[in-house]
Amino acid sequence: MVKQMRTIKGTHDILPENSRNWQNLEKIIHASASLSGYSEIRTPIIEEAGLFNRGIGENTDIVSKEMYSWTDRDNKTIALRPEMTASVVRSYIQHNLHNKSVLQRLYYIGPSFRRERPQKGRQRQFHQFGVEAIGSANPEQDAEVIALGWEILKKAGINNLELKLSSIGSKECRNKYKNALINFLKPHVSKLSETSKRRLGNNPLRILDTKNKNEIQIIKSAPKIEDYYTKEDQDHFDQVKIFLKSMNIPFTVDPLLVRGLDYYTQTTFEIISNDLGAQDALLGGGRYDGLIKSLGGKDTPAIGFAAGMERILMALDDIAINKKTTPTIYIVCIDKEALGSLQKLSTNLRKIGYKVLFETLRRSMRAQMRDANKYNADFAIIVGQQELVNKTIQLKNLSVGNQETIELKNVFNYFKSLTF
Ligand code: AMP
Repeated sequence: MVKQMRTIKGTHDILPENSRNWQNLEKIIHASASLSGYSEIRTPIIEEAGLFNRGIGENTDIVSKEMYSWTDRDNKTIALRPEMTASVVRSYIQHNLHNKSVLQRLYYIGPSFRRERPQKGRQRQFHQFGVEAIGSANPEQDAEVIALGWEILKKAGINNLELKLSSIGSKECRNKYKNALINFLKPHVSKLSETSKRRLGNNPLRILDTKNKNEIQIIKSAPKIEDYYTKEDQDHFDQVKIFLKSMNIPFTVDPLLVRGLDYYTQTTFEIISNDLGAQDALLGGGRYDGLIKSLGGKDTPAIGFAAGMERILMALDDIAINKKTTPTIYIVCIDKEALGSLQKLSTNLRKIGYKVLFETLRRSMRAQMRDANKYNADFAIIVGQQELVNKTIQLKNLSVGNQETIELKNVFNYFKSLTF
């Protein structure tokens, strides 16, 4: 027997019964982003691996352990994108987008790839949407981006949301803080995990992210970043908070919310859902004023976020919008001589917004009516030999149950005059 092929570990098919939820979420993203003036950008799934080495950082888990990369036939090292910010920034620089507008408001939707240990809410191929606002260093830009993420999750129907907010200050602040943290942790080094020992050398701020109970205990008395803010850092953070309050977006300040990489500055944030288990982060982002320069562009401030679509859909049974479905007509054709005129009718009815299901299996009337019910059709148009001769149709209103005869030439106008 031929071996059946299956999806590879950590990847999933999105089956027809679920794809409507995906489409609805995508609709919310497109509509909300557009209402705030953001335009979609689509970049390739494969890029030179060097983009992510520089754009995410060689020492990060994402790049050093999880990125899918290979040497291609022309000896270039290619990678499947593990996230999209680096690609968007590459594209921004490559196409001189700053010449088109000093402020670029961009958003994206698509798959990303990380070779992580698969578990609930963690796949190897997953989908992200995100926004990047490139060009403004001001706190109102931070508030706009955060508000957009918040609004999309709300519109999708997730209620139990929590916005965690922090600031990691300027580079100057972070360097001082890093030293203070290293000095604080050094005497505890023997009690740190292997991962944290390694991070102490290359990325000490990440230790604050630890899930290890002993380390959480140690960190409780570690120096706090807010004690290292410059006046500008403090002002920026205060203003972001004021703007969020004026937009009625609740938040909690979480000083442990850090981003370890050098190009991150000022605001960081995360939105979690208290309805999800261990993988509760739906969306994460922050200001990355140093990234564009580090990828070869001009020194340009920017802020963005990325959100995991599988996790959003997990937090919902069924997505809140578009519950009202398109009115549906099922065409039950019993006499094949009528196929042509009914096909024409279907095309015309679709043009005026009806969903029309046309039976192509030539099954019995009973089987077709069963199908009409399965698809929750509102109407069935039934044509047998009698109707063919009389140039009529039987119109059955499936929600009310009544049936009437209508002349074929009047059917289109009949449906046109209905309102939904
Ligand atoms: P990050 O790019 O790591 O900041 O992730 C942004 C968001 O993407 C997270 O908050 C998650 O919702 C989602 N995400 C990241 N990695 C995965 C994964 N392996 N599987 C599913 N969702 C993920």
